[in-house]
Amino acid sequence: MQSGIRRRRFGRTGLYVTELSFGAMNLRLLDSVDQAYEILNFVLDQGVNLIDTARAYNGENGQGQMVESEVLVGNAIRNRADLDEPIIIITKGHGYTPDAFDEELSTSLSKLGIEGKGDLKIGKNDVKLVYFLHGINESRWNTIKTSGVLDKAQKAKADGIINYIGFSSHYHDVPQIKEALDTGIFDVVELPYNIFNRSLGEDGEINMLKYAYDKDVGIVNMKAFNGNGMPAIYRMLKDFISIDYKIMLNFCLSNPYISTVDAGARYVEEFKQDIEVALGERLTEEEIKNYKAEADKIAGDMDKICRECLHCLEKFECPQGLDFPAILALYSRYMIAEKLNKDRSELIEQYKQFTPNAKDCIACEQCLEWCEYKLNIPGMLEKAHEALV
Ligand code: SF4
Ligand code: SF4
Repeated sequence: MQSGIRRRRFGRTGLYVTELSFGAMNLRLLDSVDQAYEILNFVLDQGVNLIDTARAYNGENGQGQMVESEVLVGNAIRNRADLDEPIIIITKGHGYTPDAFDEELSTSLSKLGIEGKGDLKIGKNDVKLVYFLHGINESRWNTIKTSGVLDKAQKAKADGIINYIGFSSHYHDVPQIKEALDTGIFDVVELPYNIFNRSLGEDGEINMLKYAYDKDVGIVNMKAFNGNGMPAIYRMLKDFISIDYKIMLNFCLSNPYISTVDAGARYVEEFKQDIEVALGERLTEEEIKNYKAEADKIAGDMDKICRECLHCLEKFECPQGLDFPAILALYSRYMIAEKLNKDRSELIEQYKQFTPNAKDCIACEQCLEWCEYKLNIPGMLEKAHEALV
């Protein structure tokens, strides 16, 4: 029951990868192992041929059970009798010296259950393994380029222990990304990019996506939804912006340099939505221009928005009795509405209901350590009162 997701060339690997891939990072955040196998089997049913995991993607699931993403991915593939092509597996390790590389790689192979040389298999199913150096940044790159680990990785590839070499990195590590790409060693790269942050794409000093593409490196796009905080931000913004999840995903899919988007779906329903977008039309140039203009009005405020996650109240109460998350949430909406020049009178009206209100904050700063997103709560409350009265 394949969905017909289109495929793109995966750089110099010569493989063709489905435009949507599956990121197995969030399997540890699910309620149960059964839920993890449900989504893994669903994506395989849909013909998705790339699963992106890592040695570090471990954690306690909702039932308090320790889960390892690599183990779940390996088991899901092993238990399938209907796979008619190799599944591309990306896994990542933090081994930046030869010895650490060996240790990390051999653990990953065993957790995934990968056997063979050259023609790798999990059980009876063929797989292609792209082995990543995880999260290259300045200090890690300094180790990588001098430790001999790049020779080690190339030997592992030549010996058929892995099929391809890749790396992942983040927004702030442009010089290291460029240097790594310039080595010519890496076949695949995984980079963040989305409509709110295009700094590794067209807004960067170097369009790193194009740079990698021109070097025939396969590109996996992560953080299409701007990271795990975005669902909460989106709940906050949806009354004010026309950019929704579908547009965010379509924006990334519309980038010609990206080979595949790992959009981070956790549940079958989310992945179904992603498939719907993937099977539809790409955005036109005019649409891209307009959505970018809208995103740019609020992109700078993303880290100043209260997500209404209420994590701060799990173990803390303001000594002044302030419902500060509710006030911050209201103020966050106000900031966005102001940026977008939208009506704010209803928000001002709502603020009148708060007693005590933001001016009762005594800036004791006791709440600061409880905010998951490190918001400057007293500073924001001061501004909130100025804006909302
Ligand atoms: S800084 Fe303000 S909101 Fe935070 S705990 Fe103190 S009084 Fe309450
Ligand atoms: S103040 Fe911070 S922790 Fe509390 S709801 Fe807002 S974002 Fe979440």
